[in-house]
Amino acid sequence: MLQTMKAGQPVALEDYQRFINALKRMRMEIFALKRDIEEALYALDPLTGIPGRIGLLAKLREQQSLVERGVQPCCLAMMDLDEFKLINDKYGHSVGDQVLIAFAHHAMEHLRPYDKVFRYGGEEFLIILPDTSLEEACDIIQRLRESLARLPHHLGAEGEVNVTASFGITMLDANTPIEKDIEHADEALYRAKSAGRNCCVAWKPTPPEDGVPQQRDHAA
Ligand code: GH3
Ligand code: MG
Ligand code: MG
Repeated sequence: MLQTMKAGQPVALEDYQRFINALKRMRMEIFALKRDIEEALYALDPLTGIPGRIGLLAKLREQQSLVERGVQPCCLAMMDLDEFKLINDKYGHSVGDQVLIAFAHHAMEHLRPYDKVFRYGGEEFLIILPDTSLEEACDIIQRLRESLARLPHHLGAEGEVNVTASFGITMLDANTPIEKDIEHADEALYRAKSAGRNCCVAWKPTPPEDGVPQQRDHAA
């Protein structure tokens, strides 16, 4: 059309109409793209840049349906930084923020590409391990725990500090409400804290008759 105009020729009405229609389609596509980008950004945690809680349930439901159909198992791990309040109190909130960012990024980089890490809240992260048995999940999380504990956090003139985390691991069950599975991971995490922190505990149901928790401890 530009070439026609440049040559001093009149632009045909149908060419002009085609141009206007293409412009309208492009506007609509840009609008849809903008909405998709906004939605994706909204789902990210503003501090760490990793997914926040918004997309978590949908992802878990998707995994649970694969478990239900016998396609593949899936495990969850709840990670909670150890004595994190002390880090804030001793070195300041912005150092605490940097530690959270480092933890989130390290976890994302060191897990498999199809694993997912969500900031669950405060200093807690929920990790989804698709296509993973409990045994494998314990090994993967144990390795992550060890590498996180070795990660140095630089404090400028004050040198550096290491921070540890505790983990509660559970399998996603086909017949359990997802909220309950998260509670199980939380219960196991509580056990890991009671066992002295910087360790992983896998959730196992408590047998009602003797009340002794049947859990497998992977203490550091
Ligand atoms: P525990 O080992 O039992 O988990 O001890 P803790 O100190 O980690 O646990 P507690 O629940 O007492 O403290 C959690 C701290 O995490 C308190 C809160 O200020 C801090 N925190 C939560 N969110 C953020 C954040 O976004 N930035 C920073 N810097 N600190 C945060
Ligand atoms: Mg906590
Ligand atoms: Mg904590």
